[in-house]
Amino acid sequence: MADEKELRYDPAAIEPKWQQRWAADPKMYAAEPASCGKLKYYVLEMLPYPSGQLHMGHVRNYSIGDALARHMWMRGYNVLHPMGWDAFGLPAENAALKNNVPPREWTLSNIAAMKRQMGRLGLGYDWATEVTTCLPEYYRWNQWFFLRMYEKGLVYRKKSKVNWCPECATVLANEQVVDGCCWRHETTLVDQRDLVQWFYRITAYAQELLDGLENLEGWPEKVRTMQRNWIGRSEGTEVDFFLAKDGIEAHFGDGHGRNIPAGERIRVFTTRVDTIFGATSVQLAPQHALVGAFTAANPALKAQVDELLDQQKKAREAGDLGAIEKHGVPTGQFAINPYNGERVPIWVANYILADYGTGAIMSVPGHDERDFEFATKYGLPIVQVIQPEAASAPVELPFCSEEGVLVNSGEYDGMNCAAAEEKLQEIAAAGAFGEAKVTYRLKDWGVSRQRFWGTPIPMIHCEKDGLVQVPDEQLPVILPDKIEITQQGGSPLSRVPEFVDVACPKCGGPAKRETDTMDTFVDSSWYFYRYTDAKNASAPFDSAIAKYWFPIDQYIGGVEHAILHLIYSRFWTRVMRDLGLIENDEPARRLFTQGMVIKDGAKMSKSKGNVVSPDDMVARYGADAARMYSLFAAPPDRDLDWQEDGVAGVSRFLARVWRLVDKYAPLARTGRGQVVATPTGLTLKLLRKLHQTIAKITLDFSGRWHFNTCVAAIMELVNEIQGADAQLAAGEVPAPAMLELLRSLVLLLAPFAPHLAAELWEQLGEEGAVLRAAWPTSDPELAKEDELEIPGQINGKLVSLLRVPTPGTKADIEAALRADAKIRARIGNDKVLNWIAVPGKVGNVVVKMSGLNNLVEE
Ligand SMILES: [Zn+2]
Ligand SMILES: [Zn+2]
Repeated sequence: MADEKELRYDPAAIEPKWQQRWAADPKMYAAEPASCGKLKYYVLEMLPYPSGQLHMGHVRNYSIGDALARHMWMRGYNVLHPMGWDAFGLPAENAALKNNVPPREWTLSNIAAMKRQMGRLGLGYDWATEVTTCLPEYYRWNQWFFLRMYEKGLVYRKKSKVNWCPECATVLANEQVVDGCCWRHETTLVDQRDLVQWFYRITAYAQELLDGLENLEGWPEKVRTMQRNWIGRSEGTEVDFFLAKDGIEAHFGDGHGRNIPAGERIRVFTTRVDTIFGATSVQLAPQHALVGAFTAANPALKAQVDELLDQQKKAREAGDLGAIEKHGVPTGQFAINPYNGERVPIWVANYILADYGTGAIMSVPGHDERDFEFATKYGLPIVQVIQPEAASAPVELPFCSEEGVLVNSGEYDGMNCAAAEEKLQEIAAAGAFGEAKVTYRLKDWGVSRQRFWGTPIPMIHCEKDGLVQVPDEQLPVILPDKIEITQQGGSPLSRVPEFVDVACPKCGGPAKRETDTMDTFVDSSWYFYRYTDAKNASAPFDSAIAKYWFPIDQYIGGVEHAILHLIYSRFWTRVMRDLGLIENDEPARRLFTQGMVIKDGAKMSKSKGNVVSPDDMVARYGADAARMYSLFAAPPDRDLDWQEDGVAGVSRFLARVWRLVDKYAPLARTGRGQVVATPTGLTLKLLRKLHQTIAKITLDFSGRWHFNTCVAAIMELVNEIQGADAQLAAGEVPAPAMLELLRSLVLLLAPFAPHLAAELWEQLGEEGAVLRAAWPTSDPELAKEDELEIPGQINGKLVSLLRVPTPGTKADIEAALRADAKIRARIGNDKVLNWIAVPGKVGNVVVKMSGLNNLVEE
């Protein structure tokens, strides 16, 4: 039998009641205009893909954001806390194929279902600003941005090798290839295909994106590091070796290299041009253009190169290019080092990548680990050209330090590495065979997708005029309603004549629309700006409104978005800034990445059968318990191991709070309007605990975010109040103090358990919404532990007065003795025989006197 009183806490009755009241008040969670005069706070959780079902990862993410938003409202801020839907993407097409439901219908009904789930969780979103990316009123601005970027040269079209997922039947961006597989289909290997594609020139911002990371102190260091590595800046030199032919074996430093045609140059990128006199071969990627020329007349070589290509492909597919076993073949051709005219053999190697740098390197085995390994394997010469100091003896190779001086390098012998690098760069530039060069690993963002359910690219192909922009007044280019989805034979849009056939906006003649759609990461690159002005029909948003709200004060989402979404949106922000739409450089001042929700040791997933449904949890324990548990069970940045017992435990705790307030609310209400007299005894003890709890939770909300310990602190407070139940029942705590205790307890609970807090607030007879009540402030005097003054002695003689927290435990007194400056000075070098502490009374140090620190009577 359950406790009869326990039945009185009934979330199934309380929660829907408050949800209805909140829904009936559109101002409840609405942001106010800038003119309200309050400080603004923009808290944002990453918008979900509308799969149709919230999962516990969502619940955790939103519980963190909602707690923060509520806290900031209570602190008097003007809070923007919006929600929307990342609604384009492949699953809608798959569902259409499987169930014969149009993608739009499927998506919108999923959105409705998830919105109901969010409502049942009592999440405080401003639905007036809702953004749904698959609706024309949103995606028209994707098209508008595309055109503005096209006009600025930030969008271009080129034929390129692309990553192709056979499962998705579409192209993937580099960022969407994870360990050689599709980011969506974790076991599907990605192919390479040649296609004409649209690109966003994100590389134009590579340096700025890198530099900007320095200022993002509110972002997790791991995310900044991941972005830094993804951008992958390296400084070095590009140098042309020349294809060896009769008559060009000279030294090119004097500029004779100018006459060598481009086709006879092999451009390499190196970060160590100071070692170039130690280059003993040039190595080409198997796909390098010159390799094609060499193999054309040499079938045996071609077969060997094909094998290298195959090895590289397999390693790429296995996601382990770095660990590839290095193989190479000599081409029989030679290259000339432009600095000294020396001939070195040209090899093809499986570990040289066509899409990194120039697809060719110089191999310097004396001063590079990898080159050393390769040269040793194939018996290539190894030459020392750097030594630690001018006069040092030969060192063991490879010697890879950049601190040293050149040897065996002709006229540059004796120069230090840095100076030589600069000098050799100058000579390359003067001789027209190279230059200083900064390279990035970051590639331009391929955005073409041969899919239906995405933003149509607003371009038209005219035989006469070539590529023609769709004029702004013809936006949006709307996705057709009726479409057959097959996932075969390229873009589904190309099979809809009403969509494809169009009059050329320039010449009026017959023309064809582009049938590729945009990567859905375009949608999520700027959605948070739209929230600030979601209904704007004449612009993506109003600049003045965006200026008020940006940057986002706190962005919250999964770390898996560190290099996709979070680099794209930083890029997009800069593009919008350069278009004059905004003034901020970065989208978000602070970023928080929450941990995953796991169960039975694995991430919750359908395939593992360990999914816990939020609806079930709400039905069984209530939304407040499910939310509070997801904050209580682990620090927010760590993985959370879901235990249903834990949810039940939180629910029992909330029931205790309910009973406590229910029991003492009548007394507390009589204390309204009265001043709390200087507290003593039990009142002081409880108020002290309360003010310590307020201080702790307030501090956590300001950035520490140990919400798990916040909830634990509230539990301790409740335990302490309940532990004094008999005294409370006897009236030992006067009504005004009781009111302060209960009122503040409810305020502290409000960010974590909003329904129960609203209900108890009403029970206490408080006016208005608890969300609009002021967050309690901690009184430091009241929060301070009492102190006791007791004598500190040495060998029984008074030396100092010790201040220790009441009641003055043995440990506190001993610690105070050891820390006391006078006591320490008096002990000096004497040998301490014993530390004696009489709790609440006295501390005494027994020392063996050496006579050097004679005690003086005071
Ligand atoms: Zn795929
Ligand atoms: Zn035309």
